Amino acid sequence: MQIHPTIAGLRAALKDAGRIVFVPTMGNLHDGHITLMRKARAHGDCVVASIFVNRLQFRPGEDFEKYPRTLEADCEKLVAAGVDHLFAPSEEELYPTPQRYLVEPPVEHANILEGEFRPGHFRGVATVVMKLFSIVQPQAALFGKKDYQQFMVLSAMVREFALPIEVIPGETVRAPDGLALSSRNGYLSPAERAEAPRLYRILAGVAEAVRGGRRDFATLETEAMAELSAHGWLPDYVAVRQRIDLQSPPTEGPMPPLVVLAAARLGTTRLIDNLEI
Ligand code: AMP
Repeated sequence: MQIHPTIAGLRAALKDAGRIVFVPTMGNLHDGHITLMRKARAHGDCVVASIFVNRLQFRPGEDFEKYPRTLEADCEKLVAAGVDHLFAPSEEELYPTPQRYLVEPPVEHANILEGEFRPGHFRGVATVVMKLFSIVQPQAALFGKKDYQQFMVLSAMVREFALPIEVIPGETVRAPDGLALSSRNGYLSPAERAEAPRLYRILAGVAEAVRGGRRDFATLETEAMAELSAHGWLPDYVAVRQRIDLQSPPTEGPMPPLVVLAAARLGTTRLIDNLEI
């Protein structure tokens, strides 16, 4: 695997690379990331990963400074997964001057759910991914459904800018007890780690209830949040939404495909998860 800290070096190496499949990450790689890398292999000739902890998508007071940076271990995992190129720029390389040109997702995508609790987050995500797309120029890109709203926002961005990139989803990879793998799981104390799978179990309960015919989504959401609170969590939201645009489902008529999404803090760690229904 070739490692490229500079845009120029990466561009030179990717000349004549064939069909490029791109997997952007913030590093501290786990099996969720690696599953995306292996899936990428099946979609093109040349797999490019990136590792960049993007300051633009963090708010002051979030975990930008303490976000785990583990480049050496990450490289070993990427080599084992058969990745061809890693783009791992410094902040000075990607943002040599303050990034003033920004991609602003529409409020109905960016100000709901995660966006309500992390204002500006999706502007930061869309901007860095647009910039990475411009640098890597992939024909396909993979994003995990673990970050469901991010997948929706980036798919819409690619569609509305008519970018010639196929956006491919990856299923959420979980620990045996159901906890979705996340770099932030490393912040959990042993007691919190034991408690953390409750988030998945509660989502599974909501999904089961909806599959069983319940349509009182607001009640289901309130009950789920109360159960989290009762076990020491600070829930931001539990929400049943339509998959296509993450808006509230219709109150009558045929039900479109749904997803239940949640975000909650356990101690100082904020976890998100979702389940398609
Ligand atoms: P991150 O490093 O958190 O920015 O994640 C990089 C990519 O990996 C994103 O597309 C995530 O959605 C995806 N990802 C993170 N965790 C998981 C997981 N548990 N299962 C599948 N994909 C994941």
